[in-house]
Amino acid sequence: MPEFKISVIGDLSKRVTLGPTVGIELFRILRFSMGNLILSQLAIGKEKEENQAKANETIYLVGKAVGGEIGKAFLSGIDDLNEYVTKLKEILINLKVGILKVVSADLEKGKIVVDIEECVTGVGSPNIGMHICYFESGLIAGVLKFFLKKEVAAVEVKCCANGDDLCEFEATVKE
Ligand SMILES: [Zn+2]
Repeated sequence: MPEFKISVIGDLSKRVTLGPTVGIELFRILRFSMGNLILSQLAIGKEKEENQAKANETIYLVGKAVGGEIGKAFLSGIDDLNEYVTKLKEILINLKVGILKVVSADLEKGKIVVDIEECVTGVGSPNIGMHICYFESGLIAGVLKFFLKKEVAAVEVKCCANGDDLCEFEATVKE
C-alpha cells in the first residue's frame, strides 16, 4: 500500500467513461466491511463492547489522518476560522461527505460544534440506537487540529443511526 496522502488519488481525468465519483453504496460497503475486518484481523469478537470500541477508534483514526491530509492539501495558509470553515464546507460538498454547518464555536472554551447534513455514513440509516460516524468524527478532529495546531478530539453527539435527523459532532481542543 502506498503511504496515504492526497496525491495517491492520482489523475481522475483518466476515468473517461465512468467519471470521478463512486456511489454511496460502495462507500458504505467499504466503510462497514472495514469495521468488521478490523475486528476479525485483530482476532477479536464483536460481541464485546470494548472490542467494538477499538474498531471504532481505528476508523476514527483513519478519519483523523484523512482530515489532516485535507488540511495540508487544500487549506494551508488560511488563518481565519470563518474562511477555513467556508472552504472546508466546499471541499466536503465536493467530496460528497455531507453539508457542514457550524452550530457554535467558542475557541476560548475550546469547543466547536458542527452539523453534517446528508452525512455519507449516517443519513438514511435505520435507527439502530447507535452513533456510527466515527470516520467523520475523526475527519473533523483532524481538520481542526490542522487549523488550530493543537490536539483536538471530536465525538458524535447526534446521529441519523440514533434517530436524529442529522449527524452532529462536538470537538474539544486539548491544551
Ligand atoms: Zn452519524
